[in-house]
Amino acid sequence: MLKGRTAIVTGSTSGIGLGVARAFAAEGCRLVLNGFGDATAIEALRAGLAGEFGVEVVYDDADLAKPEACQALVANAETRFGAVDILVNNAGIQHVAPIEDFPPERWEAVLAVNQSSAFHTIRTALPGMKARGFGRLINIASVHGLVASANKVAYVAAKHAIVGLTKVVALETAQTGITCNAICPGWVLTPLVQRQIEARAAAGGIPVAQAERELLLEKQPSGRFTTVDQLGAVTVFLSGPAADNITGIALPVDGGWTAQ
Ligand code: NAD
Repeated sequence: MLKGRTAIVTGSTSGIGLGVARAFAAEGCRLVLNGFGDATAIEALRAGLAGEFGVEVVYDDADLAKPEACQALVANAETRFGAVDILVNNAGIQHVAPIEDFPPERWEAVLAVNQSSAFHTIRTALPGMKARGFGRLINIASVHGLVASANKVAYVAAKHAIVGLTKVVALETAQTGITCNAICPGWVLTPLVQRQIEARAAAGGIPVAQAERELLLEKQPSGRFTTVDQLGAVTVFLSGPAADNITGIALPVDGGWTAQ
């Protein structure tokens, strides 16, 4: 049902973004990949998705910490494909420290990538979406957009802000054929979380497998990670006709984390 649509997925060289990009490619969408990494590996990824699913896939190396790069990412996609129908703001970074030890430059970096980039990409994509009467804006927030954890001040602040931004954009676009929603995952086993598990194992002098189990059970009652494929399927659902009248929500996909 999404065949022929154009989707930008920020931060899609790894983790959740890559899972979401694969899901859109499988639906027949033209894709803009973005994110950091080794150039050869990224090209293999781009060519692999294009070949496997028979869709056009381009890569844009925009650094989303920079407002002008966020705008150019959207503008380049419009020039290349004539439209941006689906925009998934997924790129994100983490820094873990108590607030007194939190380096101000990490605060600025986390807010720039996790929060402000979505403001810049959405405001650039909206005029075209409004002119065409269709758009799907999906922000990968987090359970940390709904509840807090200690030692993640910048991440929690940025993710709460994204949930607020999502609601405002939903209201401003409510009668335009555009929807704007946030997805709030709990733990997903990606490089971003793997680093936290390894830090936990090192700090506690415990095996990585034990640190992984403890990390999960501390917050996520299901005791299981959500997979990137599941998040891809949820994102596709929010982009499709069944979700036509779903807008302004913050949807937890969290194994019961926020039910507690
Ligand atoms: P990841 O580290 O695997 O991937 C992050 C992606 O963002 C990579 O492609 C990276 O290159 C890109 N990126 C980082 N900084 C960038 C920048 N300045 N410009 C462009 N791209 C940049 O992480 P992930 O776990 O897949 O996280 C993806 C999103 O999901 C993030 O917003 C994260 O906060 C959110 N999230 C993750 C989890 C989880 O458990 N993994 C849970 C909830 C929310």
